[in-house]
Amino acid sequence: MKRRIAVIHKDKCNPLGCGNYLCAKLCPVNRTGEDCVKEGDDTTTKAIIDECIKEGDETTSKAVIDEVLCTGCGICPKRCPYGAIEIINLPTSLNKSPIHRFGENSFALFSLPTPLFGKVAGVLGRNGIGKSTAFKILAGLFKANLGQYDKEITNKDVLEYFKGTQMQAFLEELFKGNITLSYKPQQVELIPKNFKGTTKELLKKANSNTKDDSDKQIQEVAKALDLTPYLDRNISELSGGELQRTVIAATVLKDANLILFDEPSSYLDIKQRIKVSQFIRSLAENKNKSQNQNAVMVIEHDLIILDFMTDLLNIMYGHDAVYGIVSGVKNTREGINQFLDGQLKEENVRFRSTPLKFEGGVDKGETLPVELISWEDLKLKYEHFALNANSGTIYKNEVIGILGENGIGKSSFIKMLAGLQKPSSGSLNEEISVSYKGQYLDYQDDETLVAEFLHLAVTNYSTQLVKPLSLDKYLTKKLNELSGGELQRVVVAKTLAQEADLYLLDEPSAYLDIEQRLLITKVIKRFAIEKETTVLVVDHDLMFLDNISDRLMVFTGKPGIEGNLQGPMGKVEGMNTFLKELGITLRRDPQSKRPRINKPGSVKDREQRAANKLYYA
Ligand code: SF4
Ligand code: SF4
Repeated sequence: MKRRIAVIHKDKCNPLGCGNYLCAKLCPVNRTGEDCVKEGDDTTTKAIIDECIKEGDETTSKAVIDEVLCTGCGICPKRCPYGAIEIINLPTSLNKSPIHRFGENSFALFSLPTPLFGKVAGVLGRNGIGKSTAFKILAGLFKANLGQYDKEITNKDVLEYFKGTQMQAFLEELFKGNITLSYKPQQVELIPKNFKGTTKELLKKANSNTKDDSDKQIQEVAKALDLTPYLDRNISELSGGELQRTVIAATVLKDANLILFDEPSSYLDIKQRIKVSQFIRSLAENKNKSQNQNAVMVIEHDLIILDFMTDLLNIMYGHDAVYGIVSGVKNTREGINQFLDGQLKEENVRFRSTPLKFEGGVDKGETLPVELISWEDLKLKYEHFALNANSGTIYKNEVIGILGENGIGKSSFIKMLAGLQKPSSGSLNEEISVSYKGQYLDYQDDETLVAEFLHLAVTNYSTQLVKPLSLDKYLTKKLNELSGGELQRVVVAKTLAQEADLYLLDEPSAYLDIEQRLLITKVIKRFAIEKETTVLVVDHDLMFLDNISDRLMVFTGKPGIEGNLQGPMGKVEGMNTFLKELGITLRRDPQSKRPRINKPGSVKDREQRAANKLYYA
């Protein structure tokens, strides 16, 4: 018999709006007299309570579905007017119960990723598959309930669940109190709301070392993460990248031997990502007080960085917001390739019908370049910062990737292109209009309906933007109800739907999982071709930029002091220029064709440096 899972998205279920439990009325099992779909006894949302009071109706609970009685006929998911129901068959190979379920008809997590001492283990999977939930269970933020949300689960029950696995040994130590944890949450932007004070005060609070050398330890970690200049700065004044590094420092300063990092690369530029990766790698080898090695785990969507930072990988797959399964431990290279392939060899599971590919260039046909804008000897001088751009031309119908550290003049240059900033000297040959998506998505308090926000996109670019980015399902939501990944896609669509000569997208990959990054790449490239327009993309995910760009602009110099623009130039030349700045070399994985950072000093690294081909020869 097929095992299935029924999920009711409680935020969508509106029994009063659908005509009083439409799903229960339609269910063929109910018609035989059984209670397959019924009214639940869960709490109501405020909106529904309000509506009930208005209508004098006390029927307010969400629907519940009996997963054993349900035959999976598919009627109710299709007919629910709010898209609140998902009935999904579980893989036949899955023969155990969930490690955790939040409640009846809610998301189910099967198993947990395995930490290993002396190693950095990565967790890779799409958004909504339970990665952060798994980390929160490991971090002890809530207790696994083995899917029995109405029973008291003991540690013995949890050990029994993992009997005979590496996880059992790990949990035994955890329950004995031999493992202490430190956890870096995903949303570092929430920290300033909960902590008032300086960077140093936050680090002091996090540092559990009360010995005399605790200040020395703070200084050392701050130095390793380039935080020394910001120690006396107020937390609320830090940029996203500074805040991210501060939270990483605080996580490390806590005395722990299991350290969990949820998306440590967000807000960091490429140079900082590499530095933080090296720092995180070094933690696994560190000795703690009991002379044991640390176990380090990382959730990360930047594949080059995940590959560089980790030794091992757990892949998570399943169905967004319905269920997530954790694979066995794999070595990182093999694990990433299996994830891209959509097939787990050892488990004999195919979890995606098509592999993810990186060479999916879009054929532009035989077109001659048409100039959009060019410049000569542009200079911009502020009191403490100077930007120089020799000469360059941007054409119509191309996507240009922009590489450079934070604070090196990228935004100032774009403002000059858009006519919002007058150059101190030099000239631009055209006046052009620019549609711009900023780096930060600040819509927490914005109650605008997505349909209203995306009015132009829905009217004019439904097939180019709204449908391929799967935005239809968010149209009835408010902006402040969207997750980071949903909001990112909505704001990209909104930016591209404006009438403009040039589109600038600052960090469109942020909050997106790897599948969404590849999808948005395709959408942006096709949009540029079909509209014969130009898109500039600033991003710090090298693989994303490698994949999306026709040409590159490279900003070099000293952040906050001087920026020099080189290009636009061809991709190989641009990458070589930038990688020289970074001091790394990139090769292509022969199997998946994805770029990988060469180990410094390895044969490939030396060969590529000798040939001056830092970008995979
Ligand atoms: Fe109505 Fe859909 Fe909720 Fe069922 S799940 S009660 S059909 S809104
Ligand atoms: Fe009933 Fe299940 Fe069919 Fe829904 S999918 S109508 S719950 S049998």
